[in-house]
Amino acid sequence: MNEHLVTSGNRDGLENYWLPFTPNRYFKRNPRIIASAEGAYYTLADGRRVFDCLSGLWCCPLGHGNAHIAEAIKRQAETLDYATAFQMSNPTTLSFAARVADMAPAGLDHVFFANSGSESVDTALKIAIGYHRMKGEAHRTRIIGRERGYHGVGMGGISAGGMTANRKMFAPLMLNGVDHLPHTYDRAQTAFTHGQPEWGAHLADDLERLVALHDASTIAAVIVEPMQGSAGVVVPPVGYLERLREICTKHGILLIFDEVITGFGRLGANFASQRLNVRPDMMTFAKAVTNGVIPMGGVIVADEIYDAYMSGPEEAVELYHGYTYSGHPMAAAAGHATLDVMERDGLIPRAAELEPVLETAIHALKGTPGIVDIRNFGLAAAVDLEPFEGQPGLRAMRVFERALQTGLLVRFTGETIAMAPPFISTDDELQTMCATLGDAIASVT
Ligand code: PLP
Repeated sequence: MNEHLVTSGNRDGLENYWLPFTPNRYFKRNPRIIASAEGAYYTLADGRRVFDCLSGLWCCPLGHGNAHIAEAIKRQAETLDYATAFQMSNPTTLSFAARVADMAPAGLDHVFFANSGSESVDTALKIAIGYHRMKGEAHRTRIIGRERGYHGVGMGGISAGGMTANRKMFAPLMLNGVDHLPHTYDRAQTAFTHGQPEWGAHLADDLERLVALHDASTIAAVIVEPMQGSAGVVVPPVGYLERLREICTKHGILLIFDEVITGFGRLGANFASQRLNVRPDMMTFAKAVTNGVIPMGGVIVADEIYDAYMSGPEEAVELYHGYTYSGHPMAAAAGHATLDVMERDGLIPRAAELEPVLETAIHALKGTPGIVDIRNFGLAAAVDLEPFEGQPGLRAMRVFERALQTGLLVRFTGETIAMAPPFISTDDELQTMCATLGDAIASVT
């Protein structure tokens, strides 16, 4: 019977599967397959156990195989596996919206659900532009992003984002009227900083330059990651986000924090906004909200913005936007269970407690040949490597392969290795992770 499902002799699927953000031909020559996962470890198909140094893709802070989440999903599937998202709702999704809003800063009380970080970003940009229109300022359409920013791969996200490789092929599809702030990374000024660099707050003043260039009346929103994750843990300089907030407020520009990586505890607080004491007008989230088990994302919206939309006739749709799977009850159930475990086991305070452990262990690698910078903030850190001459990216790839042989799954982009271990990690595990990474780096010359 089952042979009807097999359309070729290529039963392992390698030929059929087009991997995202992966060199496909290189991968397929030597596939790396994850067979299972438990706690902070993956088990590879050949039986090797490796420590999950990036909590999946920043999305599994509770580690893998959490029984409470598995049970919640099963129960939800048996009770209500899917509920029409338009014109109807369901108790799991409604109560989850309230719970997310409760975790956000005061005044951000409205939650619009999406299914990924990319969708959340595009949703936030649409809400921003629509908000100004609702207020009679339809001329405010320009979005300001930041160099090296990563806001996913939707058209809005790549336009506001500042990753050259993600943008250069798709120019005709990108939003008009987007400009970018400079990024805040300058190795000469900040190499080997522990936590937030003292240098760099002045770079926020560039927003005044963009306002002078375009005029505030054309600008809808500024979107930044409070800590740039995908760019390799680029930590906000002391005072930088405060200054962005001030300038946005002065000119009536909305400030959006893309908290897809920082949301739900990565910086030892619910959101980066609370850790850094800066309140944006909208925050996007995804990843950790469901511990990565079921996709979910969303936007948390300030009351003023929501209220502006609620001004027309009551029976008219206020926002022509949404997804079949907005507020999927299975994702909401996974989200409730994730937050149950975070609260029950005190895992956000635990992430805060682990921050100095990671900081000490990762900075101990200073002096290892090949390392040109180390940074850390919250339960995240990055190590930059000196590229091999004429072969950009090769050194980090070799370190990645070496580390995998010695028990670590690390994430690299370019010559940067990023670490964001699960909140359930022990002190010992973080120390071993950093020491093993140091050995891998030292062995690749
Ligand atoms: N925004 C930020 C800050 C991210 O780090 C990411 C993913 O890493 C995204 C958006 C996109 O999320 P997704 O891959 O779920 O679309």
